[in-house]
Parts: sequence; structure tokens; C-alpha cells
Amino acid sequence: MAFTFRKKWWAILPLFLVFLGFTYWLIGLIQYRLSVMDVEEYEPISTLKVPEHLLTQAKFPFIDVHNHQFTMPIQNLDKLVKDMDELNMAVMVNLSGFRGKYLERSMENVKEHYSNRFVLFMNIDFELIDDEGWPNETLSMMEDAVKLGVKGLKVYKSLGLTDTDKDGNRIKVDDPRLDPIWAKCRELGIPVLIHTGEPAAFWLPKDKHNERWLELKQYPSRYKDPEKNPTFEAVMEEQHNIFRKHPETKFITAHLGWYGNDLARLGQLLDEMPNVYTELGAVLAELGRQPVTAREWLIQYQDRVMMGKDTYKKEEYYTYFRVLETKDEYFDYYRKRHAHWKMYGLNLPDSVLKKVYYQNALNVIPDIDRALFPIGD
Ligand SMILES: [Zn+2]
Repeated sequence: MAFTFRKKWWAILPLFLVFLGFTYWLIGLIQYRLSVMDVEEYEPISTLKVPEHLLTQAKFPFIDVHNHQFTMPIQNLDKLVKDMDELNMAVMVNLSGFRGKYLERSMENVKEHYSNRFVLFMNIDFELIDDEGWPNETLSMMEDAVKLGVKGLKVYKSLGLTDTDKDGNRIKVDDPRLDPIWAKCRELGIPVLIHTGEPAAFWLPKDKHNERWLELKQYPSRYKDPEKNPTFEAVMEEQHNIFRKHPETKFITAHLGWYGNDLARLGQLLDEMPNVYTELGAVLAELGRQPVTAREWLIQYQDRVMMGKDTYKKEEYYTYFRVLETKDEYFDYYRKRHAHWKMYGLNLPDSVLKKVYYQNALNVIPDIDRALFPIGD
């Protein structure tokens, strides 16, 4: 009985495959007839005719305060500097300087070839928090790094989200055991560029109402399950607590502090804490979708915002220039998962552009070569 069944089963296999193929074809046909399409597939070409200003270079030399170059100890910097010249990027801040030998080699490479074009920020290991040598070993490492030429400390988002202490507990951003680090930065005269949390939408249900649904589909691990994570508000509050507790230390909260979608709130924070600055890395699309509000806001907070890009890709800077400098309407952003909406130019005044592009960074990050920028600034 079993034998005959198996025999029959083999006999119907080709038929079954034909049936599957037919079903697949039929589903495609039905979807086409009903105009059903994947959201990733939809790429409408705009029919709007308005003036366009495609910029490939910033109007003023700029400092990118949020960049990552991961092979700096061995990297041939010639090509990168050529790109930078074409973009009018005077100085790049590599936030991934790391520490120890890696940092030393990166610094040697920069000093030997383009000493005034790159700035390095160092990174420290917060999971050493329970070690016997904490905090003194880390503090002396920071001193040595600054002697070597490091101009800032970059704190990754792992602090507050995934870093744990020896008992396996999450290390909060405002853990008092970290206070000596923030105090040391003040003493050394270097700023802290700190990325805390993630876009608030990563905490929201993964459904059709979520603005970052596509990103959560493409990168499911970015979803912040409320069961396993602190809330968005809690982790951001921890960050604000260290800003309040260390008013003499200069902090640059990365990615518009994840309040690019709520500039009024970000403005309140900047009003409350004069030691805090912010930057535009990976959040340009927030400004480009609210050109009226963003323009007014940037004019009001022109002393507190710096140019930053994050992931390095030359052509993507063009969109930054276009949003900040032009008054173009309804044009594309470069990454669909960040923004399924269109950009509008902010048409910022030159005086504000200069502050965002370089003046604010010159004031906060020590010893950048001023000869790279217009005289008098
Ligand atoms: Zn980054």
C-alpha cells in the first residue's frame, strides 16, 4: 500500500510543478490586473516642472563632523582627499578612530599625508566599567590620545542599548560610574559626540502606519521590542541627564538627537542646555520635508548645528547641498528606507550656511586649521 502511494506520488510530481508554475504566473497576472505592487517597486517619475539646481559642491568649505573611515591605519587617502576637494569638504572628522595601536597608526597615516584635512575622535570600551583599572586606565588612555592629536570622544549607540556590566545589566547612559569620563573631556578640552538611541519609529508597531516600516522590513533587527529594550523616552532622558550633570563639557548629540521630527522639542533642549550642539548625520530627510519650519529653526539655532553625513558616499552629499542651499521643490532623497517622501530646499542665508558648514565646528572642535576657511571667519 505504502509502496504504491510512493510510486503515485512520483508520478504526479511533474504535474504538481506545472501547477505551481501556473499558480505563480496567475498570481502575477492578477496582481498586474489589480495594480498590486510592492512598495519597494514603486518608483514614480515626477512630471512636475520647476527649476532645478543640482549641486555637486558646497558653497563654502565645510567640516563633516560625522564620518566613519574604518581602514584609516592603512588607507591610501589620496582618492578620499580628491573627493573631498571636489565636494569642498575642507576637513573630515573620522569618528571611528578607536584606541591603542589602531589609533596610533591612523594618526601616523594622517600626519604623514594630510595632517590638516582629517580629525580623529577616539572610542572607549564602556564594558570595562567593573574592571579594577576603571576609570583610571581609561582616563590615562584618553590623556595619551589627546597628546597624540585626538580632538574628541565619540560614543556609540551601544551605550544605553546593548552594553552591559559584569552582572549582565544594561549600562545606562547616565550611569554615575561614567561621570569621570565626561569630566575628563572637559578637562582635556575635547567635545563628546554622542549617538544615543534610534529613531523613535523603531519602537512603534511594525505596521502600515510606521514611517520606518521599510527599514524595519529590510533590517528586522533594528526593531526595538518594548519587552527587551528601554523606551525611546527613557534612553533619551538618560542622555539629557549627562548633558545637565556636566554643563562644562561640550556635547554634540548626533543625528539631531533623534528629534529632527520634533524641532520644537529639540529647540527646548538646546535652550535649556547651552553646552549641547547637534549635527545632521543621516537625518537630512527630516529637514527636507518641513522646509518652512526647518528654515526658521536653523536660523534660530544657527550657532548650535553642524554639518555631518555619517555613511560616506560622495554623491549623497549633493542632496545635502541642495536641501541646505537651494529653494528647489519636490526632489528625491537618496535612501528610500529613511524617507519615502520628497525633499524641499531650505534656501539658507549665507551667514547661516557658514555657521553650519564650518564656523560652529571650528568653535567646538579644537585646533582645526583655520587657513582652510575664508579669511575673517
Ligand atoms: Zn555614525
